[in-house]
Amino acid sequence: MIIVYPSHHVRHRPPSEIFNGEKEPHAEVPQRIEQIHEALRDTSGIRVTLPKRFPLSWIEAVHDPVYVRYVAEAGRQAGSTYTYPSVFPYIQHGDITNPIALRGQYAFDLYTPVNNTTYQAACGSAMAALTAASLVRRGERYAYALCRPPGHHAEKNRMGGYCYFNNAAIAANYLSTRGKVALLDIDVHHGNGSQHIFYERSDVFVINIHADPSEKFPYFSGTAGEIGVGEGSGYNMNYPLFLGVSDLEYDPVLQQAVQHIRRYAPQFLVVSVGYDAHIDDPIGGLRLSTAYYHRMAATIASLGIPTVLVQEGGYNTGKLASVAKNFVRGFMQ
Ligand SMILES: [Zn+2]
Repeated sequence: MIIVYPSHHVRHRPPSEIFNGEKEPHAEVPQRIEQIHEALRDTSGIRVTLPKRFPLSWIEAVHDPVYVRYVAEAGRQAGSTYTYPSVFPYIQHGDITNPIALRGQYAFDLYTPVNNTTYQAACGSAMAALTAASLVRRGERYAYALCRPPGHHAEKNRMGGYCYFNNAAIAANYLSTRGKVALLDIDVHHGNGSQHIFYERSDVFVINIHADPSEKFPYFSGTAGEIGVGEGSGYNMNYPLFLGVSDLEYDPVLQQAVQHIRRYAPQFLVVSVGYDAHIDDPIGGLRLSTAYYHRMAATIASLGIPTVLVQEGGYNTGKLASVAKNFVRGFMQ
């Protein structure tokens, strides 16, 4: 398996996120990807490569170009200090230009600050996903992009949930020029961004398995009733799970999701890989074991579809190495 490692990510390190008015240590830290990279690079059968450059138009194909420019410009203006929104839009009257208003316009939470390292890191992360997608498009069976910052919460024109550009959606859209794509999201949080981006499309089938949004972030989406609209009706599926679900209860749901993907018969599969459904994750809420990640990967790999793995969440830096190793071994067995 080829691993794509975007080395620029280490410069992006927000010190804090704001929760309930308090500054708390930011959970999305560089050590996450460093530990996964370290654990995987010496594994037999794995080769590590750096991201290649792709035209910005691949990012702008899923994100509003005005939003993409905003991420770059807001970061430049912020310098090295991370900036946060203060006010969110309550009505829309014409163009917004005030920097404080723009921060609210293009974000939906206070977990996802911007400074002058953010744009480069977010682009590097997207390029890693595109590199993995291009390898698979050229005939590689599997490729794994160690994306950081993560992406699946980023909508067409809004950052949130530590995500700026939606790496998995960018990869899925890139592959969709060659055939149907399924996007399976196994991060513990609902991939609201991926759902938002493909909600009206039938050529990218989005399936999410996640903790019930009435209990967990992102709170406002991820119910079973969200099935897509128009052309996309029936091509979006959500499996919200009760908090505390373990391997035994999770597995039948994964089997069902895999059946749906098999019936859809995509040419490519993109997996939003979060390790935050693990029992020891500090923010997850489910109870999957390290060993189950091996089985989960083997189940997904049994589809036999050329697959791009895209890193999303997973916040227990003491466990990520072993969980990632298990997952990758399950995929390659
Ligand atoms: Zn997550």
